[in-house]
This record gives sequence, structure tokens and C-alpha cells, in this order.
Amino acid sequence: MTVSIIQSNNPSRACGIVPADCHTQPQRAAGLEETMKAMHSEYCRDPWEYRLWSRVAINDKTGCWEWTGSVNRTGYGQLRIDRHGVQPHRVAYEMLVGPIPPGIYVCHACDNPICVNPHHLWLGTNSDNQLDAVLKERRVILRGSAHPFAKLTEQQVLTIRQQIVDGKRCADIASEFGVSETEIYHIKTRCSWAHI
Ligand SMILES: [Zn+2]
Repeated sequence: MTVSIIQSNNPSRACGIVPADCHTQPQRAAGLEETMKAMHSEYCRDPWEYRLWSRVAINDKTGCWEWTGSVNRTGYGQLRIDRHGVQPHRVAYEMLVGPIPPGIYVCHACDNPICVNPHHLWLGTNSDNQLDAVLKERRVILRGSAHPFAKLTEQQVLTIRQQIVDGKRCADIASEFGVSETEIYHIKTRCSWAHI
């Protein structure tokens, strides 16, 4: 995963963590993973910062930094700081990126509510957040012939697959169904219509 360095807008909060390098020579750090490792280290003096970063594990497949502590009923992480319940992804965003304006949500581009990787987080309003959720839901639901741009039906795709197995030429199949040869190739390799 490629990661660039994000400098905190609020260095006094972001550290108590590590040495001077963290602020004065951030270009020396290899990236956010390094920052996180440092936060895991013995230099992490603030108990709540330790409680946050000691419960985060990197998912190598997705690049998500996953909160491994307790979660609430909606699947988001929860952490107590000064007797207040907070969400770890919001705390991580503030520590590593900057302040969150009042009333603004920290949304997940990765759709993983336990992720605290600031590269996967973006600021949005409540309606941004809801629209994002609806679009993600649509991306899941609108497959195959339900997609507004679909030229074929599921039954036609099954027929095309059978014709491919029977050895019919892609160009002939394409012309019979009124689609491009590329589309036939994608059906053959399951780049498209993979769900059937
Ligand atoms: Zn993520």
C-alpha cells in the first residue's frame, strides 16, 4: 500500500507520542504505518492514546486499520476518553489529519465501520453520508439486467455462455445479440455478469 505522510494540524494532540522526529522532521518517517508503530511503542505515554492504538491492527489485504476493541450496535468502534464515549475513527482522524467541524460526519470510503485509517476516511454532512450509503447499496443491488445500462438479460447471457462452450465464434455471437465482441469476451472471462 502506498501511503503518504499526513501532518497533523494539531501536533500537541497528536503526540505525547514520540520524539521530536514526529513533528520537526516528518519527512523522515516512512508513512502513517510508521507513525502507528510509534504510537504502539513505549513512547506512547498518554493512556487513552495507548488504549486507541494498541487496539488497532492493519488488515494487509484491504489496507484498513481495524479497531479491535468494543463496538456498538451499529458496528462502529467505541472508546472512552475522560468519561466520554467517542468513536475511534473520529479520534484517529483528528489526531492524524485535523479537526472535525461541528456537525460533520467522518465517513468511510472503505465501508468498514471499524477502520481508522485516515486515508479511508472523508468528511461529509449527514446527507452526504446517507447518499453514500444509498449509492453503495445500489451498486450491490443493480447487477445484471437490473442495471439501467444492461443490454442483455440473464437468460441471454446463459445462452451466450453455452454458445461459447459449443465453440461458436465471439464475433458471430456478438452480432446475433447486438453487442460488441469485447462484451462477449467479458462474459466469457466473467469480467462482467460474474454473478450468474
Ligand atoms: Zn478502511
